[in-house]
Amino acid sequence: MTRKVGVCWDAAFQAHSAGVGHPERAERLNSIREILDADGTWERLIQVPTRRATKEELERCHARAHVEQVISVEGKSHMFDADTHASPGTTEAALLAAGGGIELVNKVLDGELSQGFALVRPPGHHAEHDRAMGFCYFNNIAVAARAAMQRDDVQRILLIDWDVHHGNGTQHQFDEEKEFLCISLHQYPFYPGTGRLRDIGLGEGKGYNINVPFGHGTGDHEFALFFEQMIVPVARQFQPDLILLSAGYDAHQRDPLGGMKVSTEGFAHMSHVLCELADEVCGGKLVAFLEGGYDLQGVGQGAATTLKTMLGDTLERSGDISKVNAPSLHLFNELQETFAPYWKLKRV
Ligand SMILES: [Zn+2]
Repeated sequence: MTRKVGVCWDAAFQAHSAGVGHPERAERLNSIREILDADGTWERLIQVPTRRATKEELERCHARAHVEQVISVEGKSHMFDADTHASPGTTEAALLAAGGGIELVNKVLDGELSQGFALVRPPGHHAEHDRAMGFCYFNNIAVAARAAMQRDDVQRILLIDWDVHHGNGTQHQFDEEKEFLCISLHQYPFYPGTGRLRDIGLGEGKGYNINVPFGHGTGDHEFALFFEQMIVPVARQFQPDLILLSAGYDAHQRDPLGGMKVSTEGFAHMSHVLCELADEVCGGKLVAFLEGGYDLQGVGQGAATTLKTMLGDTLERSGDISKVNAPSLHLFNELQETFAPYWKLKRV
């Protein structure tokens, strides 16, 4: 199937510097672009112009004081936390990343595009309601999800996060709401320290937050198990109108920060399962947001693989659920038991 796939990309993203020697650097996006250019994939993508997110759009997710603080440091250098620094171009990049994501999602919901990938910097999933953290200033995916929920044609949104780090900002944003189902697969224990299995959501949102805390060294087979036998059946029961993906590529085996063993072919498999799932449950409406991924080849090949899968290319894939390691089988059973009052998973 050939799909109309959009990308959100802006040269201004590259004016954001998190500091000399910082792993979240402009070369990451350059690597993705070079790989997409080299085999002609870039020409097959439709570019969606970015714009600055408005204060109103940002304040649906973030405290006014936080929004104003990020805006106030425009053109300056500022230290938000030990590893989250702003350079003179950071505010502009962060506003365009959040606004560009909204534009991309709207084009997919309007049917102008089949799917999309916001190739943005800075990333967003660690940004909390009231503060920047973990290289993130505004929570791009959460801002886009809140904007989408304003529309009459969107009642339920599934947010999946395969970045090696727990998407703490996203979980906390939607913890108490059953209209947003958040699923994060991540290394645990690891930065930022959150993401336990027993954090299943609060109040009305109980059962609508699923954490998959994988052990160090988890790879393609284990991710495939949770995609095929947990995400797919849960999504069929949830019936989302839209699927959003926090696509970090720091679970890649080459990544210098993560400790996981996912291959490029493993990301191809997860992307394939998600595209098929989106076709089945929500008319294909799937939009990815770039999060982490700090090896230039790992993030470049990974993002290219997701985009080519969206375009309908047939790629080599890896992930065999008959080869899952014992700790992850145990984790699956524990998760199945924990979520039994809410969701029916496939039995392994
Ligand atoms: Zn990450």
